[in-house]
Amino acid sequence: MEMPKQGKMAVSRANNHIDNSRRNKLLILEMVRDKGPLSRREISAGCNLSMATAKRLVDELRTDGFIREGSLMAKPGVPGRRSSLLQLNGKQGYAMGFSVDRQHVGVNIIDLAGQSLYEGAVPVTDYRPEEVIESLARTAETLRADFDARRRGRFLGIGVAVAGLVDASTGLVHFCPNLPGWENVSLMKQLVDRLDAKVVVDEGVRCMAIAEKRLGLGRDLPICLFVYVGSGVGAGIILDNKVYRGKNGMSGEFGHVVIREDGPICNCGNRGCLEALVSTSGVVQSVQSLISSNVYTKLRIRAEVGQQVTLEDIARAAAEGDKLANMVIHETAEYIGAGLVALVNIFDPGTVILGGEVIENLGDVLVDDVAKTVALRGIHSLAQRTTILRSRFRFNSAALGAATLPVEEFFETGMLNIG
Ligand SMILES: [Zn+2]
Repeated sequence: MEMPKQGKMAVSRANNHIDNSRRNKLLILEMVRDKGPLSRREISAGCNLSMATAKRLVDELRTDGFIREGSLMAKPGVPGRRSSLLQLNGKQGYAMGFSVDRQHVGVNIIDLAGQSLYEGAVPVTDYRPEEVIESLARTAETLRADFDARRRGRFLGIGVAVAGLVDASTGLVHFCPNLPGWENVSLMKQLVDRLDAKVVVDEGVRCMAIAEKRLGLGRDLPICLFVYVGSGVGAGIILDNKVYRGKNGMSGEFGHVVIREDGPICNCGNRGCLEALVSTSGVVQSVQSLISSNVYTKLRIRAEVGQQVTLEDIARAAAEGDKLANMVIHETAEYIGAGLVALVNIFDPGTVILGGEVIENLGDVLVDDVAKTVALRGIHSLAQRTTILRSRFRFNSAALGAATLPVEEFFETGMLNIG
């Protein structure tokens, strides 16, 4: 039925009011999430709202249970006066994250505020897609039943990080070089059908970048790069506080830039890719081939008794002054640095966070050398303004990042059912 004109306008004005108030609440939630705990005054200034509006909306968000009063902030120079700070109420919801990698499936549960509530490994013996999906689904069902029984708030959904070529927009896994039979697997669809829950699928390194942005060293950085150096090499790009996925949802294939034309053959078929040179197997391979060409090293003893040299061995030998070990670390740093220069010149990220088992094991010596190479080879004024950091996560953070995917969506989309 046609509505009289005036009625229509009144309805639209009322809707506008609701939209405005809803938008402002989302703005407040986002600010508290990024920068909290915050005072009401800081929220009012940061969201460009009057003190009265900010107070009213904060009160409504508290009633709805999204925000809670946290610690008290002492006012400098005003004895006795304390202003209470507001932060996200983690208890309002929880999300689950899985990481699927070569020979490891991890799981992590976080609350709405990003606090980790549970961390574990999923027992998997067969890494073919059907088997892994079955294990993920069963674990998700068990954990969800357990957390719901304990009243941990609303279940926000599941994120899955997969080490491979993943289209995040469709949840389709194109290919995993290290997982048998993972080709064109409709992972998101299969899990949604099975679990009747929100499911988000993304690539492993991008998930680590999100973990870094939300819970790690990138927390206060709207722009930064995360570079993973471990079983493979990849980059996660954070732009305007969000992970950049690219036109086809497949950004960050940083491991396959060619660094040395005459380098070793890479998994992708090219020669001298960064990944072939600096991934765990690349570094170990460099050591092995130097041993074979009779360069002196204490690592030879290990190789001679038929044991595989590990990253830990190389780090230990380097710390004890072994020349070969130090040479390989230095060379690895130069390759990583050479690759990074290209990314830094293109993105001007300000901060690059390095993580993954190669970085973890070879440590500050490696990271310092990477920084030196970037300073030496990058465009001077740009390299000078770029900080290279070592991630503080002492484990693979992909499952943690995957768990934040449904939380991201919760804050970004219409899932927020608030007035
Ligand atoms: Zn390659």
